[in-house]
Amino acid sequence: MTIFRGPPTPYIPDDLTIPQFILDSHHPTRPVRPHGIPWLIDDVSGTKVGFDELRARSNGLANALKIQYGIGENDVVCVFSSNHIDYPVLVWAAHRLGATVSTANPSYTTDELVYQLQISGSGIIFAHPGSLEIAAEAATKAGISHDRVIVLDSVAGSPYKTVSEMINFGLRRPVSYVERRLEAGEAKTKLAFLCFSSGTTGKPKAVAISHFAVIANVVQLAVHHKIDDPTIPPEEARFAVGEVCTAVLPFFHIYGLIVNLHFALFCAMSIVVIPKFNFTDFLASIVRYRITDLMIVPPMLVLISKHPAVKNYDLSHVKATWSGAAPLSIELTLQVSKVLPNAIIGQGYGMTETATAVTLMPPPQRLGNGSVGTLMPGCAAKVIKQDGTLGGVGELGELVITGPNMALRYHNNEQATKETFVDGWVHTGDEVYFDVKGEMFVVDRLKELIKVRGFQVPPAELEGHLLGHPYVADVAVIPLPDDYSGEIPMAYVVPSTDVAARVRDPKEAEKVKAEIIKYVADNKVKYKWLAGGVEFIDVIPKNPSGKLLRRILRDKARADRAVK
Ligand code: AMP
Repeated sequence: MTIFRGPPTPYIPDDLTIPQFILDSHHPTRPVRPHGIPWLIDDVSGTKVGFDELRARSNGLANALKIQYGIGENDVVCVFSSNHIDYPVLVWAAHRLGATVSTANPSYTTDELVYQLQISGSGIIFAHPGSLEIAAEAATKAGISHDRVIVLDSVAGSPYKTVSEMINFGLRRPVSYVERRLEAGEAKTKLAFLCFSSGTTGKPKAVAISHFAVIANVVQLAVHHKIDDPTIPPEEARFAVGEVCTAVLPFFHIYGLIVNLHFALFCAMSIVVIPKFNFTDFLASIVRYRITDLMIVPPMLVLISKHPAVKNYDLSHVKATWSGAAPLSIELTLQVSKVLPNAIIGQGYGMTETATAVTLMPPPQRLGNGSVGTLMPGCAAKVIKQDGTLGGVGELGELVITGPNMALRYHNNEQATKETFVDGWVHTGDEVYFDVKGEMFVVDRLKELIKVRGFQVPPAELEGHLLGHPYVADVAVIPLPDDYSGEIPMAYVVPSTDVAARVRDPKEAEKVKAEIIKYVADNKVKYKWLAGGVEFIDVIPKNPSGKLLRRILRDKARADRAVK
């Protein structure tokens, strides 16, 4: 029976919360951060934040959250913000009190946020100024009073309290909270985050992630990359002390939250916090802050390899790019290596349910070969073939994975939990194989999830929404391949009797399609829009128990496009 295994599990403390691990303790693999190397740098203002300030702000905010709102053990705090230097402060303040943090995409529409607030049971919202209006509307709809909406930066004339006001208040008052401490082993069950993912099927669900899972992934990444190995020459060292990395990936997504934020801080790197991705500004930031490490998703690498502006910037100091969240092909890897000839170009694989990385390109390899790397220490993987048996080297099947970093369950969703989290193993819905060197290759996605620029687009969510439109009798949403976004969603729609006659006239059919597309655009965040368009169909193929046969439609869409 083949079980693929990473190196042995390293020492992972199981009695610490995340802020205790990052701010208050030492781990044997953790490098010492020399004085003067900032933890975070605000891309826009250049403001640098160090350890003392981060720790003081987290503790001050914890005190204010306790005194002003009574936040504690059973509370869920929603962070609805683009990347911000106070993002970790909000997270760690909540954790100091024993509360759980739910991270939300700041571009969500009101209804998308309401859904997340309700499923996660959030009772207080931290909102970025740009997302404040939506946060306030969603709070009203979710029954959260407006004095529980707190804004990250002050907004002229706004009645909302700011994070800095709260911190100043908390720092002036005597400490009124008892920090949440954990018994030995308790970190394995104590919730840290509720991050959203649709998993293999259905609508987005709150993935319950423990403090231990996050700490484990940080330590696994450190050990996998041998960050404490003194024999590695400085030019080959990865994630080395004092290197500067981007934080352009959103902290609300697991990759940004764990790898980009917590792991990079653990490694004594400085993080340049970028609130919004704009490619030429991004290039300018790389030069301005001499950024060495780019944590990135494939569409950003497409731009690096193709955008004409790149030649105007000296990127020769870039030491590494690390791609995840969606496939990075060998062709794109090679194109990027022409633009960044000195850089390591690596790729990792993970998912929200595995509290990020389960594989990564290992040292001393410098250039990806289309694989997603080797297993993290402490991870074990099975490849379940179509006939249900276990696959060996070179055999294709669904990846089923375990390790200390696995999430616990889907919050308040027993049925979905049972299907994905089975005896400590996570069923990924990804089709993979391992080669003789233990490198994993992701071949296809067996699950229905669509990924647009690394963002999740759950078809079931769009289908549920589209069925609310009077023109739609039935619908299936499937992915189309796209050079930049990786995939884009398209909808096969069975027209309702209201419009069945109209859609026979090609001009009218276009109008009906446009209305359906607009209905999504008016209600969903941009990456969920039907960029692949709408096609009409007589009947959606289903199996006898009514399950959509998406694969038939996916193949049909690809074939139709190939003919055109
Ligand atoms: P998320 O939970 O949003 O991180 O999405 C996880 C999913 O993204 C995985 O199950 C894969 O389908 C996909 N994914 C992540 N990393 C990669 C990768 N390097 N190559 C291919 N697919 C990936």
